[in-house]
Amino acid sequence: MVALYAAGMKKAIAPPLAAPEGTPAQRLATVKAQLAQAAKEGGHPVPKLIAISKMFDDEAIRPLIDAGQRCFGENRVQEAAAKWPAMRAETPGIELHLVGQLQSNKAADAVCLFDAIHSVDRPSLVSALARACAAEGRQPTLYVQVNIGDEAQKGGVTIAGLPGLLHDSQAAGLHISGLMAVPPAEQDPAPYFALLAKLAARHGLPGLSMGMSGDYDVAARLGATCVRVGSALFGKRSLT
Ligand SMILES: *Cc1c(COP(=O)(O)O)cnc(C)c1O
Repeated sequence: MVALYAAGMKKAIAPPLAAPEGTPAQRLATVKAQLAQAAKEGGHPVPKLIAISKMFDDEAIRPLIDAGQRCFGENRVQEAAAKWPAMRAETPGIELHLVGQLQSNKAADAVCLFDAIHSVDRPSLVSALARACAAEGRQPTLYVQVNIGDEAQKGGVTIAGLPGLLHDSQAAGLHISGLMAVPPAEQDPAPYFALLAKLAARHGLPGLSMGMSGDYDVAARLGATCVRVGSALFGKRSLT
């Protein structure tokens, strides 16, 4: 399946090092059951499960589609454009989310390809997305990514910059549905998820994109409306 990818991307794509227990259908059922339980404990609706398929090819993805999963996420426009059109032609009703950083020059491609973009994080991208949405006559569901732990290496608008970016988005004619964040690694994610929920509520935003393989249960308990789960469904991604 490597032939699907552009030259230079081959190295980034590899089979899982060690798959989690069970078949893809069993892993999907396990994650869904845990999400349902955690959401119930927190008194929230069950979040939407976005299966993050970055670095996995169609042979790894198809068993999840066969098991009923229809919502997937990628972190690169180019990789998604290489693998998803064919699978979407095979299976109607696939929903595709972009969860990675988006360069302004790829905004038009992203608007055409994705149903949701979770990484709106700066004024220049807001302008590029507004132009692309106007030109294409469609607007994906948009989330503003917040750098919730104020980490230099992470994407996302600062907490202080959030009101300004939301204002810019509205002025540009973009509808923002919610907030997205990735909490600092190796720390209890709960306070960061709670802070993101508070910021979203303050701005009247219903969507909360939070929770990954290590903490989707915590996120569901704290009101996530969608969780982005990769390795718990697909196995480990190899970078070499
Ligand atoms: C890769 C990725 C995920 C999924 O990570 P896992 O730990 O494999 O579940 C979620 N969100 C973003 C932004 C990602 O880049």
